Amino acid sequence: MAGATIAAYLAPKGVRIALIDHCFKEKKRIVGELLQPGAVLSLKQMEMGHLLNDFDAQLVDGYALLQGNEKITIAYPTPHNGVGLHNGRFLQKIRESALQNESVTQIHGKALQLLENAQHEIIGVSYREVGTSEIKEIHAPLTITSDGFFSNFRESLSNNEKSVTSYFIGVILKDCDMPFPKHGHVFLSGPTPFICYPISSNEVRLLVDFPGDQLPRKALLQKHLDTNVTPYIPECMQKCYQKALLDGGFKVMPNHYMAAKPIIRKGAVMLGDALNMRHPLTGGGLTAVFSDIEILSAHLLAMPDFSNLDLIHDKIEAYYRDRQQANANLNILANALYGVMSNDLLKTAVFKYLQLGGKNAQESISILAGLNRNHYSLIKQFFFLAVFGAFDLVRQGVGNLPNSLKLLFDALLIIKPLAKNELTVKAVVSGYFKK
Ligand SMILES: Cc1cc2nc3c(=O)[nH]c(=O)nc-3n(C[C@H](O)[C@H](O)[C@H](O)COP(=O)(O)OP(=O)(O)OC[C@H]3O[C@@H](n4cnc5c(N)ncnc54)[C@H](O)[C@@H]3O)c2cc1C
Repeated sequence: MAGATIAAYLAPKGVRIALIDHCFKEKKRIVGELLQPGAVLSLKQMEMGHLLNDFDAQLVDGYALLQGNEKITIAYPTPHNGVGLHNGRFLQKIRESALQNESVTQIHGKALQLLENAQHEIIGVSYREVGTSEIKEIHAPLTITSDGFFSNFRESLSNNEKSVTSYFIGVILKDCDMPFPKHGHVFLSGPTPFICYPISSNEVRLLVDFPGDQLPRKALLQKHLDTNVTPYIPECMQKCYQKALLDGGFKVMPNHYMAAKPIIRKGAVMLGDALNMRHPLTGGGLTAVFSDIEILSAHLLAMPDFSNLDLIHDKIEAYYRDRQQANANLNILANALYGVMSNDLLKTAVFKYLQLGGKNAQESISILAGLNRNHYSLIKQFFFLAVFGAFDLVRQGVGNLPNSLKLLFDALLIIKPLAKNELTVKAVVSGYFKK
């Protein structure tokens, strides 16, 4: 997504690009299927909004939360909307748009290694060409590595380890009536959350969380669905859900968390999941990717050309600095909300808090939508939620005081490490030997 999109954006502006991927076929993935309004806005700002047309992508107006028999909906701030889509189809549209430019060379190959000169500056990449299996080299003043969450290049360009928070089990529900059409749904009744949203006019993606860092075996997966999901699927979705279970075809993906800790080296920059990941519960991945592309491109396009390597280096530094500010809310919210949804006291508190509606619900959804990047808003809403939840428990009876304190303590445990990781200015390591 990241590589093809930045190529599609920069190529018409006269930048010569080699787009390397080891697979240019349409992929069937369970990732990147809900674009939050922030992602849609970035695409429009880059004049790429038309790439969402003509492949049955669906407008999404807001979110629905369901807990027991209670349901609430919260609309995205007007005039914004999200989009549900088949990731593979969307990626093909982006690639087509990139490859129609004469300045883009398509290279069908597996990128192997960054190439370095004697000063350890990166001068390109080696790759194994698909078809011939020949190992070739390509040289460039700037190499953008965006090879996704299993990145080969993280070791050279980043100072961080990824961790698995949980797994998502994905299944497509055909001809399914969701309780609220054109909405993303979050189901809170079971012990772990599950979500769904439309990805075409007759398909709904269901993603079920499987906690822990161990890949669920088939028997365990079935037990999880039977016990923690099936009883909580709404009546209107049961038929298509049962059919999907019978048809099989589950896909399972790990959900990672990794704050961005880039190592700045001359000649290379990281983009997308290779650099930074958050839990996909909030669908924030592509909002971060597209926003990063806008930021990096704005810095690169401010140069007269790509001949001054020192200037490129300054631009990369500026990109890493600016993107951290822009993405902190997305990163914190995704993992904080996952923590909240996996905690009974906080889960109930968030439902009741949003049920109140009004300004706080609106501010919360604008953060989720990727439209509000103000860190103060996020911390304020999280603090309000915790205090509201604690107060609500005590209001029901003084005997709830221990639970109320536990809720506050749990909220602090969730937010503190995330805020530390994402909000403190990281000393970005500059130069090869300082790793
Ligand atoms: C279960 C799940 C659900 C998600 N749902 C959403 C969602 O609804 N909304 C959202 O916004 N985000 C979502 N995300 C996150 C989002 O999908 C990612 O943030 C986004 O795809 C990252 O884009 P990328 O370009 O960095 O990586 P990718 O999209 O993974 O692209 C990496 C590319 O690199 C290529 N590649 C890899 N290695 C090499 C190599 N050595 N040589 C050549 N090519 C190579 C691959 O073929 C691929 O095309 C989800 C993530 C998960 C795990």
